[in-house]
Amino acid sequence: MRHRKTTALVIRAEIYWLLIRKPWSHSLARFVTLFQLIQSASSGKCTDLDSPDQPAACVYCKKPQPSKATGEQRLKKCGRCLHVLYCSRQCQKEHWKLGHKTQCSLGALANDVYLDSFRKEEEAIDQLIDAYRMRVEDDYAFRHENRGLYARENPFPDFRSFLDLAESRQGVMPKWWNKEKRRICERRAVDEDGWSCIAFAVEKHDIQEHYNDHMMPMKLRMLAEKVYGFGVMDPMGQL
Ligand SMILES: [Zn+2]
Ligand SMILES: [Zn+2]
Repeated sequence: MRHRKTTALVIRAEIYWLLIRKPWSHSLARFVTLFQLIQSASSGKCTDLDSPDQPAACVYCKKPQPSKATGEQRLKKCGRCLHVLYCSRQCQKEHWKLGHKTQCSLGALANDVYLDSFRKEEEAIDQLIDAYRMRVEDDYAFRHENRGLYARENPFPDFRSFLDLAESRQGVMPKWWNKEKRRICERRAVDEDGWSCIAFAVEKHDIQEHYNDHMMPMKLRMLAEKVYGFGVMDPMGQL
């Protein structure tokens, strides 16, 4: 039952994503807001921090914050999405399992902290590479543009251009990014024994399967859209 509800939510989220795209800064913020509205309506579990009528309470157990709370008594904001409050680590863990994982990623994307929010640097690096791979596939599928691997060329120069562009954007690269991390990223991108390798094409369902996450293609698309500055369906992308 819960699975069906989640599937319906994902479909609706994807429809919104298709409808609202340009320019990405507006579309992303609007999309995240809409998504949160849908999710709170469906689960009844989310507290909107911006709502002045609601007293601050733990989003999971609903325990309100004591009126003169100090230090440890104060509810803590989720450090990634900054959108929900928790009274304890345990409530945060349970809420994550309940489905905050997806909402949180969208919030992290909107707050420009997505790649910063992974515990392991390799995870962020692999998602950056996969954002490129997903975008090359989308450019081929939606814009009939063949580049890199799809133009039967060595994909490495095209991938390097992607990294150059990503480095030039505000709020894409994690704080720990530097020349050495870039070298590690470039090595991982051409390592044919690893999964996130630019020598292999990838489709939406491969990404979903690998990450065991139906929303992952959308998150990677949003990340790539931040890098390129437009989505695959945007008119300016056709120029
Ligand atoms: Zn709680
Ligand atoms: Zn969060």
